[in-house]
Amino acid sequence: MSHVFGRGPARLPTAVRGEGCYLHDAEGRAYLDGSGGAAVSCLGHSDAEVRAAIHAQLDRLAFAHTGFFTSEPAERLADLLVANAPEGIDRVYLLSGGSEAVEAAIKLARQYFLEIGQPGRHRIIARRQSYHGNTLGALAAGGNAWRREKFAPLLIETHHIAPCFEYRERREDESPEDYGLRAANALEAEIERLGPETVMAFIAEPVVGATAGAVPAVPGYFRRIREICDRHGVLLILDEVMCGMGRTGRFFACEEDGIAPDIVTIAKGLGAGYVPVGAMLASARVHDAIAGGSGSFMHGHTYHAHVLAAAGAEAVVRRILEGGLVPRVRAQGAKLEAALRETFGQHPHVGDIRGRGLFRGIELVEDRDTKRPFDPGLKLHARVKSSAMAEGLIVYPAGGTVDGRAGDHVLIAPPFIIEDAQIGELVDKLARALGAALAR
Ligand code: PLP
Repeated sequence: MSHVFGRGPARLPTAVRGEGCYLHDAEGRAYLDGSGGAAVSCLGHSDAEVRAAIHAQLDRLAFAHTGFFTSEPAERLADLLVANAPEGIDRVYLLSGGSEAVEAAIKLARQYFLEIGQPGRHRIIARRQSYHGNTLGALAAGGNAWRREKFAPLLIETHHIAPCFEYRERREDESPEDYGLRAANALEAEIERLGPETVMAFIAEPVVGATAGAVPAVPGYFRRIREICDRHGVLLILDEVMCGMGRTGRFFACEEDGIAPDIVTIAKGLGAGYVPVGAMLASARVHDAIAGGSGSFMHGHTYHAHVLAAAGAEAVVRRILEGGLVPRVRAQGAKLEAALRETFGQHPHVGDIRGRGLFRGIELVEDRDTKRPFDPGLKLHARVKSSAMAEGLIVYPAGGTVDGRAGDHVLIAPPFIIEDAQIGELVDKLARALGAALAR
């Protein structure tokens, strides 16, 4: 009998040790961490430099409340992030996770418009099949029907347009570029429908993670989105909680799309699982409107910019940037993609293989020609997860890929340190797990 309030009724194995790309349970079983949990553990589970940095900081100072002090690790981390951030990003607000970062982004957008004398702007536009977190503001922004349903009466007003989802939404007679324009123009139509003077922000994941399975936008989509936001005075918030920090082969995923946001959120890979941390980064324009207006952002948490978390994150970011891990993600990501295509490219129930860098998804379908998903009642994604665990593999499958209810995908997001042989092990184990799940 456990007193831990777990995620569900199942009794899970007890994790006791982490080493490189593997987790070990109390029964002595090893699991290759093919998804870094949920795209978290980008450095594996035993990085010596990060551990040393956390130990050293703990011996100096663990906590100093941000109402009274700043700290050396927070200052250094903010400098490092801004030096490597998209153009215009100038300030870093450190938090304890992704949902907190999204909440802060939403509130900052609202306060920005109050400061610049546009109090009518309060509406958020987001995309269906997105995930922005589980706190109420972030959940309201998210477009996953299943996750929102139970809490619908508690959610603030948000509006959702279609995602940029080439496999599901591009018409056969459209080029990817034409499709990208069509998908992006839905934002303009929605802003005009709502009234631009009421819309404060558009929020999107550059590569959609948990709720769609590593779906990047087609070329040109985000450039058009940026133009539309600028034309209507709407802030662009990019949620890079899952796809940022090198995961896609760029330090910030949006570099690939050739645009810069007004606000960007990061988490997961920022702490790499060593510390609970997230961050909201804002442009100088947004920050200065507040600094030169009422003076302070009306926000804060007891543990935001936690000193130990900042020290851990600083060490993680240094390892990613100075350890050459971003180019390594591109190289290993190409090998992972090739291995997935070789093993699953002709698989009768794999409809799509997609993603960037070490952020890959495979979408499972009952019928490849019609792209018909499996009956959601089968919970195929849950079967794949448990079959993979039985094989000694952690991947991150989910359902609702098509519309929040139907559809199954498997998200693959291994540590950036993954070796060639481990890519082979990952794909072999996944093939066996998928076979077992489909046979059940
Ligand atoms: N945003 C995105 C894109 C995410 O993938 C997640 C988590 O999966 C979140 C926000 C929420 O982050 P957290 O679980 O750290 O609160």
